[in-house]
Amino acid sequence: MDQKQELQSAFLTHYQFLQDSGIQAHIDQISNQLRDLEALVQEAAEIFYISEVGKLTQYIAQKLLDKFVPSWLVFVLQSEFASDQPEIICFENMKRVQSPVEIPSLEPYRHFFGLSPVAVDFSVFESTVGQQSLSDVFLSLRPAKLIPILGFAGVHGFIVVGRKVLGEDYTDEEMRYLERLIKFVSISFQNSLNYQSAITDRKTKLYNHSYFMRRLEEELARVKRYKLPVTVVIFDIDHFKRFNTEHGHLAGDLVLAEVGSVIASCVRSEDIAARFGGEEFVVLLVQCKADYGYLISERIREAVGALKVSYAGKDLSVSISGGVAEFVASESHDFVNPETLLNRADKALYESKNQGRNRTSYWSPELEEPQEIAP
Ligand code: GH3
Ligand code: MG
Ligand code: MG
Repeated sequence: MDQKQELQSAFLTHYQFLQDSGIQAHIDQISNQLRDLEALVQEAAEIFYISEVGKLTQYIAQKLLDKFVPSWLVFVLQSEFASDQPEIICFENMKRVQSPVEIPSLEPYRHFFGLSPVAVDFSVFESTVGQQSLSDVFLSLRPAKLIPILGFAGVHGFIVVGRKVLGEDYTDEEMRYLERLIKFVSISFQNSLNYQSAITDRKTKLYNHSYFMRRLEEELARVKRYKLPVTVVIFDIDHFKRFNTEHGHLAGDLVLAEVGSVIASCVRSEDIAARFGGEEFVVLLVQCKADYGYLISERIREAVGALKVSYAGKDLSVSISGGVAEFVASESHDFVNPETLLNRADKALYESKNQGRNRTSYWSPELEEPQEIAP
């Protein structure tokens, strides 16, 4: 035997030994686990960059398609900023569909997962949740498992995983994968809640002052570059001090919330509506001239005027005044700064107050003369 043949023979003997002793199988298993872990780290990194809940659920659905197809995948989520009713995002055979189920409150499920914050077989959930209606609501979804979505603040929701389309059971490995994925989703969801909380005004659910200022600066930079128009409208509730004195601060808070939702419903999704402070609101209308701003302002003013806020057995109402200012690209670029634009809208708002309130005014250069607010 020459040296090369000797080496080959020694290699085969070693290889045979690794095979026979099961060591090779063990090595293969570890390599597979390592590959899965690498994929998981990659997926975690991708998930952390998704801040929108809809996109997050879509991503999970897409990822699962590579492994298996649940008949239903239903996300039941409660964000602090949503209404009391949890949001339900539903996939049937991995296609987004309207939810066939409705859940009035997350509270009882929160309680259940608060006691046992782990994934649970639907049959176990059914027999331990106590109230049958809490599990019956999911029966049409062919439920197999429920997995909680947990954050620092507790249970944010849960996922209902329907049986596989072809009917067979989930393997332990598949469930482990899904649970791991959901742990990352939980963190991402928590991040998105934190971000929402940082840019949202709690009382009105509109954006807050600092987010508005950031977006206004960004928009003005764009205006400069692309020569587009931009308009801001500032609103202020009329005689709100008197309203508070007559009806109390709680009634005032209720009005602020209602006015906030009227404003949100009157602007387009690309516009930015914010609570500017106290009882002042501001709307940034992108790619719009002042006449459109005036139209929106009047629409909001009329809708607020028609509001009836029920409090302590009474129907209360308020009026608001608005001030509109635009920037058009033909103006000197020296003017393009947030302060000047906001100042102009504010001057127009003072004009509305001076003219008797409950109206909208445009900014005009004459308004730059010193003025007094009428009592
Ligand atoms: P005008 O028509 O000139 O705007 O009269 P006004 O009384 O509304 O004027 P002003 O801006 O001086 O008063 C604002 C009032 O808004 C004072 C304050 O008590 C009230 N306010 C500000 N923030 C809140 C809030 O968060 N909740 C309640 N309830 N009231 C608030
Ligand atoms: Mg005010
Ligand atoms: Mg006011």
